[in-house]
Amino acid sequence: MTPKYTLRCIQGGEDAPEHYTTSCPCGHASLLRAEYSKKQLTVRNLPGIFRFCDWLPIHRTLPIVSGPVCFRSIALSRELGIPNLYIGFNGYWPERGGTITTCSFKELEALPTVIRMQEQRPATLVIASAGNTGRAFLQVSALTGIPVVVVVPEKAIERLWTTAPADKAVVIAVTGDYTDAIRFSREICTLPQFLEEGGAKNVARRDGMGTVMLDAAVTIGRMPDYYFQAIGSGTGGIAAWEAALRLVGDGRFGSRLPELHLSQNLPFVPMVAAWNERRRNLVPDTDMPDAQAAISQVYSDVLTNREPPYAITGGVFDALTATSGRMYAISNDEARAAEKLFMDLEGIDLDPAATVCVASLLQACEAGTIDKQKTVFLNITGGGYARVQKDHALIPVRPSFTVPAGALIDVIKQEFLETVKSCV
Ligand SMILES: *Cc1c(COP(=O)(O)O)cnc(C)c1O
Repeated sequence: MTPKYTLRCIQGGEDAPEHYTTSCPCGHASLLRAEYSKKQLTVRNLPGIFRFCDWLPIHRTLPIVSGPVCFRSIALSRELGIPNLYIGFNGYWPERGGTITTCSFKELEALPTVIRMQEQRPATLVIASAGNTGRAFLQVSALTGIPVVVVVPEKAIERLWTTAPADKAVVIAVTGDYTDAIRFSREICTLPQFLEEGGAKNVARRDGMGTVMLDAAVTIGRMPDYYFQAIGSGTGGIAAWEAALRLVGDGRFGSRLPELHLSQNLPFVPMVAAWNERRRNLVPDTDMPDAQAAISQVYSDVLTNREPPYAITGGVFDALTATSGRMYAISNDEARAAEKLFMDLEGIDLDPAATVCVASLLQACEAGTIDKQKTVFLNITGGGYARVQKDHALIPVRPSFTVPAGALIDVIKQEFLETVKSCV
């Protein structure tokens, strides 16, 4: 029997064995990509992302409703003079079909990731997060009963909540920043049976996010001409490009790849700086001077990844190159103005990252970098935080452990292992 999908190194073209594999077996600095045996998409009568299970690296589906929605804008469309403006809403907004109770598209990544892990390499997944990703994995753990370990900087704890009790999750707070949380998550993964989630290198994460583009194409009837998204790692941009490549192969949704119009939040805009010089490599001193100070000033801190998958083969640089893409640098004032405009016209509250995306569309209109007669897709990557509280009681998730920045696993090892054991 032909397998549902195989993993292939984008740079070298060799097949990789699937054991929840996230890097090329030959050592290429390249992403792996899932190649699906089905070249034409059949949209299934299943909930949420599972409608698109043909192009997800999983075999099992679950009765979980989280998924992308796409609708044609009326008010913002009129305001901007873009007749074919479509909004992809990834958050909670039941009036529009938005079912993601943790309010960001990270839930679209978390769901196929835990299923892929269970199918390919049963272990306990360890996720380092600055907030939205952690919340998404906690929710998926709560809904599936699959244990996870989430490591966050201490000040992100307040962003961790779910709408179902996350009894099988262990949260660790690190008194430091996101980078310190990543370091401690690697400490945990030195223990047997703990598995690094993989980030952008994980095909389940990318193809989960890719459902946003698939949903756009089946709703509109074709691929959009422009895809707008605010990026921190750029995983969503890569995912949109890969989904578009599959849609081109399908043949029914157009033959031109949507241009990626990606944005970051000033003053932390490393990928804008590098792309504007068409440089493949990020140069920290040039592209992110005074990174720590810059990161502390942005409106949307989920957009502040210092080590994005930009240069790696199949990463953000290649996605922008292949689609003749563009990048935008958005100030906090522009983001706040866009937030108010979107709220007034479309009537839902946004994640700060999504306000950066809306502001980039305003900038594109003003600068004339898009043809307004073409089809524009705006990926609203998060929103509905105010709306969800009307329907759901938000359950805060508390850390089981708090460790200092730079700590080794030994500081909590025994107690930690016992805590995890009591969850499984
Ligand atoms: C993570 C996140 C982003 C950035 O996504 P990437 O494609 O991974 O860079 C944008 N918006 C929201 C709401 C997010 O949580």
